[in-house]
Amino acid sequence: MTVVVLLGAPGAGKGTQAAALRERLGCPHIATGDLFRAAVREGTPLGLEARRYMDVGALVPDEVTIGVLRERLAQPDAALGAILDGFPRTAAQADALDALLAERGGSVDIALLIDVPSEELIRRLSGRWICSTAGHVYHAVARPSRTPGVCDVDGSPLIQRDDDREETIRARLARQLGALEEVVEHYRAAGVLHAVDGRRSIEAVTADLLAGLERLDG
Ligand SMILES: [Zn+2]
Repeated sequence: MTVVVLLGAPGAGKGTQAAALRERLGCPHIATGDLFRAAVREGTPLGLEARRYMDVGALVPDEVTIGVLRERLAQPDAALGAILDGFPRTAAQADALDALLAERGGSVDIALLIDVPSEELIRRLSGRWICSTAGHVYHAVARPSRTPGVCDVDGSPLIQRDDDREETIRARLARQLGALEEVVEHYRAAGVLHAVDGRRSIEAVTADLLAGLERLDG
């Protein structure tokens, strides 16, 4: 069983890269959000417990998350391994994951870090503008409207939500990067960290990540 942990800040492009890795490894991409949604949908006891927290907007406790993950990893499609995305988020969760995998005689084989400097993340995350009438989405850098501040489709003014403002993103990212750094250190100490430069093109990042996986075969 090959267990890959995919690490990166919000905006680093993990979702895009996970698809390429899944194809290469032939094992499921397990994103924490989907994991909970599936457990809730199936109405498992742990899923129902997770929902009690999610319904009130609270963080799901680590022991519940680990329980849901244990059940997921026991499913047939994960027999050869899994790509974990969104977990672990803290050093405590990384310890809990190690303990879970040790139950099965395994460990994290490789932690792939898509490394993007915080200023670049802020640039990617904070440029979002939304059409005030129909919700058409633009991005100051990646997908600008033809006329600044005006929707291409219907001519409505574009607005920026509080969540998309630079100062909001800067504050949130500072908290998230602190936790990410702890997790990165955990895997660096374990000798399984493979960091790639996430500022490059999607294809170049994919190639670097796959090169990290090649090492596993050797
Ligand atoms: Zn519009």
